[in-house]
Amino acid sequence: MNRRQALKVLGGAAAFAGSSTVLGRAAFAQTPAFSLPPLGYAYEALEPHIDTATMNFHHRNHHAAFIGNLNTLAARNPDIAARPPEEVVSNLQAVPEGIRTAVRNNMGGHWNHTFFWDLMTPGGPRTPVGDLKDAIDGAFGGFDQMKAALKQAAVGRFGSGWAWLAVKDKRLTVFNTPGQDTPHMDPNGARPVIGIDVWEHAYYLRHQYRRGDYVDAWWNVVNWTKAADSFRRAVA
Ligand code: MN
Repeated sequence: MNRRQALKVLGGAAAFAGSSTVLGRAAFAQTPAFSLPPLGYAYEALEPHIDTATMNFHHRNHHAAFIGNLNTLAARNPDIAARPPEEVVSNLQAVPEGIRTAVRNNMGGHWNHTFFWDLMTPGGPRTPVGDLKDAIDGAFGGFDQMKAALKQAAVGRFGSGWAWLAVKDKRLTVFNTPGQDTPHMDPNGARPVIGIDVWEHAYYLRHQYRRGDYVDAWWNVVNWTKAADSFRRAVA
């Protein structure tokens, strides 16, 4: 190879390196795999039961952190963005072991919070409706008894987690989960109907250590139309 040919090869390599940098920037500028779902209502809409500051931090900081972490994970593991979050959390064994805990925490957090925002509303019926009402009466003896059982599950969760009303083994039942685990992670694959976030960030600004007071207030914002839809799908 003479000098002129060598320069030509180098030039080609430089041009290729340049174009791959451009491609890299283009890929980086693409829409991220995960994005923060919008609330269906204003941050102040659930006052006085759930305060504006809590809704703001909870949605724009806590949930957004899960989204940021998922996008970082998806940049190296695009498979986690190829299926709906519900499928991913339902089958964590399919996630590579090296990222499984991170996916469990962050996809779980993303799924739980997306479910939670939709489960709250400033309007609508204030008590269970339709088939869900009948199922609650049948399983617990009444709405008040179900509320008491869920409150016990919420207050009884040591540290951070969630309390759930879910369909498990074809029966309505109440239980809690640690961290950001979702009901789908239950070995028997529970299907959630309602769920309440009992991490301190969900209530501390308004209620401080009084988790039970937060649970009592939360009943005023439950979206029973959404809960009835989830129940219908859970038993279908
Ligand atoms: Mn939360």
